[in-house]
Amino acid sequence: MTKKIVLIPGDGIGPEVVDSAVKVLDKITAKFGHNFEYENAYAGGAAIDKFGNPLPQAELDKCNAADAVLMGALGGPKWDNLPGDQRPEAGLLRLRKGMGVYANLRPAVIFPALKESSPLKSSVIGDGLDIMIVRELIGGIYFGKRGRTGDDSAYDTMEYSAQEVKRIGDVAFKIAQKRSGRLTSVDKANVLENSRVWRKAITDYSANYPDVELSHLYVDNAAMQLVTNPGQFDVIVTGNMFGDILSDEASVITGSIGMLPSASLGDGAIGLYEPVHGSAPDIAGKGIANPLATILSAAMMLRYSFDMQAEADAIESAVDAVLNEGFRTGDIAVDKSTAIGTVEMTNKVLEKI
Ligand code: NAD
Repeated sequence: MTKKIVLIPGDGIGPEVVDSAVKVLDKITAKFGHNFEYENAYAGGAAIDKFGNPLPQAELDKCNAADAVLMGALGGPKWDNLPGDQRPEAGLLRLRKGMGVYANLRPAVIFPALKESSPLKSSVIGDGLDIMIVRELIGGIYFGKRGRTGDDSAYDTMEYSAQEVKRIGDVAFKIAQKRSGRLTSVDKANVLENSRVWRKAITDYSANYPDVELSHLYVDNAAMQLVTNPGQFDVIVTGNMFGDILSDEASVITGSIGMLPSASLGDGAIGLYEPVHGSAPDIAGKGIANPLATILSAAMMLRYSFDMQAEADAIESAVDAVLNEGFRTGDIAVDKSTAIGTVEMTNKVLEKI
C-alpha cells in the first residue's frame, strides 16, 4: 500500500527522533511490502528561521495533502522572546486547527519493565497503569476570544457548544467501547457555565452508547485521583486546557515522558502524530534523546490513519522486547552509566522488528 507521510522534524531533538521513526517505518515497509513516500515540512522555530513565520500556508497545505503527518517537537529558548502570535507554539496551534484535528489521544501507560521509573509508590500503581486521555484540541480557552483590557489586565474566554462536545464525545465513547467500557468525563460544572453545557451534552450523547458506563469528575478532583488512585481510570474525555494539564500529569506519573506517543485525529483518516515531550533543548544534538515516544507515535499512525494493525503491533512488541531485555536511554535508565544513545536504541528496535 502506498501512503504519503509529511515529516515535520521541528526543533531541538525533533530531527533526531523523527529520523529514528523513519528508520523504523522503512523497516516496516520492507517487512510488510508497503511503500511510504516522505515529504518534509517546516513548522515552529525551523519555519521562523527559514520563512519568518511559524507555519506558512504552503507548509500547512502540504500537511493537508498527505495521508498523515509525523512531527518531532517545536520550540526552544531561541524563539522565546518573540510576540505570542509569532512564537513556535502559534505554529503548532495553527497546524492543529488547520488540519481540523479536534481529538487528541494520549495514552499514559506504565510499561511493566519501567515500573520502577514511576514517581508513585508501587502500592498506588497496583497492577500497572493504562489510561487513554481524549482531549478536545481545537476549541475551548486556547482558541477563545482574548485580549488586554489595560496594561495590567487581560481576559481569555472558554466556550464550548454542545456540538463540539458531542464530536469529541463520539471519539471517546468509541474508544471506551473497544477498551473496558468505562468513560470518565472531566469538567468544572460546579463553577463554569460552559462546563454545564459540556456535562449535559455528554450525558445526552451517552444514550447512543448504552454499553459504556459514563461517570463525571470535577477537574480538581480528577487531578487528585490521578495520583492517589490512577487504576480507577480507563478512558478520560475532557476539554482543551483541562486535558493539557491532566495529560501532562498522567504522563509524568508513568515516569517516562520520553516514552509517550500521541495522535490527533479529525473527521477523516488523516492525523497528526507526535511524541508528548517537547524539543528538549538541554539534550539536543547530543545523540542521547529517547526515540521511543516518536517511534510509538509512528505505530499509532499505522494503527489509526492507515488501519495497519499488524504493523503497529510489530513496532509496539519490538519496543516492549527491547525494554524487557534491559536496554534504556538516559532518561529511563536507573543506572545512567549503562544508558544507550538514540541510534543504538533505534537499532535495537529495528533488530526486534
Ligand atoms: P521537554 O519535554 O522538551 O523537556 C523536559 C525534560 O524532559 C528535559 O529535561 C528533557 O531533556 C527531557 N526529555 C524530553 N524528551 C526527552 C526525550 N525524548 N529523551 C530524553 N529526555 C527527554 O519540555 P520543556 O523543557 O518544558 O520544553 C522545551 C521546549 O519544547 C519549549 O520550547 C516548549 O515550548 C517546547 N514544547 C513543545 C511541544 C510540542 O512540540 N508539542 C510540547 C512541549 C514542549
